[in-house]
Amino acid sequence: MPYEIERAAAVEAVTLASGLCRAVQQRLVAGTTLTKGDRSPVTVADYGAQAVVSHLLAQALPGVPLVGEEDAAALRDPANAALKDKVVAGVNAVLPELTADAALAAIDRGTYEGGASGRFWTLDPIDGTKGFLRLDQYAVALALIEDGEVVLGVLGCPNLPVDAADPDGPRGCLFVAVKGQGATMAPLDGGPERAIRVTELADPAAARFCESVEKAHSDHSDAAQIAARLGITRPPFRIDSQCKYGSVARGDASIYLRLPTRKDYVEKIWDHAAGWRVVVEAGGQVSDARGLPLNFSQGRRLEHNKGVIVTNGRLHAPVIAAVKAVLGDI
Ligand code: AMP
Ligand code: MG
Repeated sequence: MPYEIERAAAVEAVTLASGLCRAVQQRLVAGTTLTKGDRSPVTVADYGAQAVVSHLLAQALPGVPLVGEEDAAALRDPANAALKDKVVAGVNAVLPELTADAALAAIDRGTYEGGASGRFWTLDPIDGTKGFLRLDQYAVALALIEDGEVVLGVLGCPNLPVDAADPDGPRGCLFVAVKGQGATMAPLDGGPERAIRVTELADPAAARFCESVEKAHSDHSDAAQIAARLGITRPPFRIDSQCKYGSVARGDASIYLRLPTRKDYVEKIWDHAAGWRVVVEAGGQVSDARGLPLNFSQGRRLEHNKGVIVTNGRLHAPVIAAVKAVLGDI
């Protein structure tokens, strides 16, 4: 099977990094030291997850560069020595052999610029940092891009219910999708993977749509107007991170609206690459708010795109028409 080695390496890396994030979040739950506005737990998990993923990928596939959200510059500052020690301790809980220097070097591998040619990984070590701090949803998102095309996507979603119909049941999902091979979901703790598909829904009025919890990341009032135009009466399903892509891919929702809140914001490739492949392999469709394909070949950002619209495919044309009617020319 094509991409067997890449898939196995990505799954192992995301699974171990998700374990690190879970451990940090559990200490957050148990801890009493967190003061309001203190972002250090998510910072530790963010750097730690990037170190783990980057190190494992470099071992499995040497020479494939990484576009990661983080770099280690701040951790190299002696003023942040305590933070660095916490990051290394977190990393050593899953990779006991890794020295501090090797962990920082692994994080710094993430500074690749991306672009239109060759292959590279892109990683959001914790997508949905706000969700992480709320003890809610977040994702470890990893994708492989070849000549501008996302060919592999893996999403570790440590807090996502395995069965959306049983929100109090077991949590932790691993979504995996390879170009042409379909999309699967498995419990993050291990267990059988199953093929996933988007909904078959053709009537937009019956759809459930999801959007960011954070209104700074996606315009909630534009979304409400678009939903009203489509005849949707169900309230939005608000959930952080690329868990939204997973939710559409497995049919919890049929639409994901990410509507620009500012003219000058440009989406980052690591916020969408893995989710894109997962949804496409599950039979769905992804475009920007103008209906254009997402262009992952322009470096670290989606320079040619505005917003993101995800659907089960059947609903894409009517949703884009409603987006255009509400947003006009963007
Ligand atoms: P979500 O959890 O879907 O709300 O998305 C989280 C991601 O939103 C983060 O990884 C940020 O990179 C990204 N983000 C930050 N500011 C904005 C913004 N103004 N518009 C859209 N996305 C943003
Ligand atoms: Mg992110």
